[in-house]
Amino acid sequence: MPRPIQAVVHLDALQHNLNIAKASAPNAEVYAVLKANAYGHGIERVYAAFQSADGFAFLDIEEGKRLRALGCKKPLLLLEGIFALADLFACAKHDMSFAIHSRHQVQWLKQFAEIVPDAQFDVFLKMNSGMNRLGFQPHEYAEIWQELHQLNNVRSITHMTHFSDADGERFGLDGIEYQNLIFSQTIQGLEAETSLSNSAAILRHHQSLHSDIVRSGIMLYGSSPDYPSHSIQDWNLQPSMSLRSEIIAIQDIQAGQSVGYGSNFVAEQAMRIGVVACGYADGYQRISQTGTPVLVDGVRTQTIGRVSMDMLTVDLTELSQTNIGSEVVLWGRSTHGTVLPIDEVAAGSGTVGYELMCGITARVPIQVET
Ligand SMILES: *Cc1c(COP(=O)(O)O)cnc(C)c1O
Repeated sequence: MPRPIQAVVHLDALQHNLNIAKASAPNAEVYAVLKANAYGHGIERVYAAFQSADGFAFLDIEEGKRLRALGCKKPLLLLEGIFALADLFACAKHDMSFAIHSRHQVQWLKQFAEIVPDAQFDVFLKMNSGMNRLGFQPHEYAEIWQELHQLNNVRSITHMTHFSDADGERFGLDGIEYQNLIFSQTIQGLEAETSLSNSAAILRHHQSLHSDIVRSGIMLYGSSPDYPSHSIQDWNLQPSMSLRSEIIAIQDIQAGQSVGYGSNFVAEQAMRIGVVACGYADGYQRISQTGTPVLVDGVRTQTIGRVSMDMLTVDLTELSQTNIGSEVVLWGRSTHGTVLPIDEVAAGSGTVGYELMCGITARVPIQVET
């Protein structure tokens, strides 16, 4: 038998979550974001569940090729644009649109027009409206817009920006207000479609935004973009990935005895400790603190002591029915129907659901459940 650990991808949940995105942004085209191999789920695994997406967004040309190989005919968008002139051959061949966030990308487009005169591209002009990662400053935006308009190989331009604080506040104000104002002022008179919203903006701000194309990522994968303000239950989202394992050993310990490396957990009373086949080499955060929630046979309990490479330990003191082979859910859905949101587990190590789902390692087999 292989080690009992596995990750399960739930296609019904992915489909459900996409429907929530569509219902939250009813007048927009909803692109499913598939970067980081569909947030760790696997592009080929999730594709069937995203049939009703209006397009797909990702970072790597290879990811786009995989979508085309699956028969995808929908619009594809490279969120960071091209990384070299040569990328434009693949964009032309596979009909991929791309962000333009810098002058050197504009130069490559110009050069490409001389090499392949009949290629046509739909581009997303990226504005740096305040996040200060990618994009043109508002004061140079119109000039670049005009420059792109004069290129024969640019078929359409969509205005694009990205929010830094759609999940909360920014300097005590509503998190999108400042960037949205800059954006709308800058595009005035430059008639085109717009693309602004990520998951947090879709769920929290869609009414107050004009985003013709929304880019939904994390919400599709059953993590709340603004946890702990809202949980997945609040947004009616379902976990799309479950990390499951089993109890492989049980230790009954006395008050004063310690558990695991560093002996940093010491029992205050007699306890029953379960050893789980899951460790940091599977993608479970080593930094997780004692008290991080887990489900054993569908019942909530907590981790105890340090996470090691291949094992972690949980408190079974109150769970006398559990035994070797009992199901352990590190996050997601238990076969008993209970749910442990990935956001609560992420909070136990000071991180976010994104990092946990992207961090499942290669040795964990992934199974798809319809
Ligand atoms: C990752 C990403 C998104 C999706 O963000 P979520 O928070 O996962 O919804 C949208 N737009 C851009 C530019 C991104 O890089």
